[in-house]
Amino acid sequence: MKMKKIKNKNPDLLIVGAGPVGCVIAERAAKAKRWSSLIVEKRNHIAGNCYDEINTKGLRIHKYGPHYMRFKKRRIFNYVSKFTKWIKGNYIVKSSVNGQLYPIPINLNTLEKFFKKKFKNKTQAKKFINTLKIKKRKIKNSEDYILSKLGKEIYENFYKNYTIKQWGIHPRNLNKSVVGRLPIRFNRDPYYVNQKLKVMPKQGYTELFKNMTRDNKIEILFNTSYEQIKKKISPKIATIYTGPPDVFFNFKYGKLDWRSLDFKFKTFKKNKIQECVQINFPNDHRFTRRVEIKHVTKQKSNFSTISYEFPKSKGDPYYPINNKRNVNLFKKYKKLIKKLEKKNIFFEGRLASYRYLNMDEVIEAALNLFKKLKNKYS
Ligand code: FAD
Ligand code: UDP
Repeated sequence: MKMKKIKNKNPDLLIVGAGPVGCVIAERAAKAKRWSSLIVEKRNHIAGNCYDEINTKGLRIHKYGPHYMRFKKRRIFNYVSKFTKWIKGNYIVKSSVNGQLYPIPINLNTLEKFFKKKFKNKTQAKKFINTLKIKKRKIKNSEDYILSKLGKEIYENFYKNYTIKQWGIHPRNLNKSVVGRLPIRFNRDPYYVNQKLKVMPKQGYTELFKNMTRDNKIEILFNTSYEQIKKKISPKIATIYTGPPDVFFNFKYGKLDWRSLDFKFKTFKKNKIQECVQINFPNDHRFTRRVEIKHVTKQKSNFSTISYEFPKSKGDPYYPINNKRNVNLFKKYKKLIKKLEKKNIFFEGRLASYRYLNMDEVIEAALNLFKKLKNKYS
């Protein structure tokens, strides 16, 4: 595809990637400093993996997997609230085990249903789980983590096969933080995430990031990779790179592994297809989860779309893999990244920092990076 003409070859900032990080930096630069930004994006759209679009039946779908927005910090929520109205985000997920649906994250209801017991309170449930826990002197990986907290039955039915399917790696060979993302509860809280601030942008994520970047100081070039333009653009202040580090350094130390997904969408002439937004299938099927996003976009329609997620090792980089090989390899790239700061090139975001980061976390990181740039170059 022919590249669009670039209006400003000497912007203040050259930003690689129009995902949340790229958009936040460009917005702040324009509003706070009137710095100009050129964002180059290899895809044909804004919003990175948060991108959503309206399908032929008028339903908003999350093209790169369901995005459940939640905020750890009110300050970050307040910032993003400038660009969207919200609806509540009461995300409910269930896991299908032996043909039955159980609440996920594991909570008191899951334990009662699975073990066919009634627990009067937390203490009783904990006492019971204590008899199942497998003691570990050191928690070395994701398997140890679940065995030591919930025992073999829950591990084998809810975690083991899901993790193998999702990562193509045995939980024994994954850092404990991989499964540690999922809360374990001894109360009846049914929600997928712990945060109180759980919201969905009323008009979707794409609209949110479009609103954020609507400024004549911001130029976005789609269908363009950094590699294509890097010799043509000389930013006056800095370059912000949000892509994968190994690509930037031309795989100098080798390739970082990523987990990717195939999404298969199906639309039905039905108001609702399943009882909650996400159903996980740890032990059946080749897909990990089935998502009916209408539960959280709250659109009204006689149709509904579901998506199936099939994990794979090739394709778009979605999940950094937290095992020894990749952690060590990234450390080597990190040294090069640090050195580049002296040349005014900064790496930020989920891909660039090779970390499993949520939207609120990358937005916070982007705001912090902007502050650093502002202090350094004002
Ligand atoms: P990205 O969104 O990845 O954007 C980076 C952009 O840079 C991309 O558009 C890419 O095309 C572009 N790019 C990369 N390299 C180049 C290059 N060389 N030249 C030009 N352009 C380039 N977070 C939550 O908070 N809640 C969730 O429920 C949630 N669910 C998720 C589900 C899935 C399946 C995935 C993959 C992620 C999920 N996330 C979720 C995480 C969320 O997507 C990220 O936190 C966020 O998108 C990271 O923003 P970013 O700007 O760092 O990167
Ligand atoms: N996980 C699992 N069973 C589940 C849900 C999650 O074993 O039903 C594990 C799996 O290894 C997964 C990790 O916990 O990758 C984190 O889960 P989360 O739902 O946060 O994954 P994400 O939404 O980020 O893909």
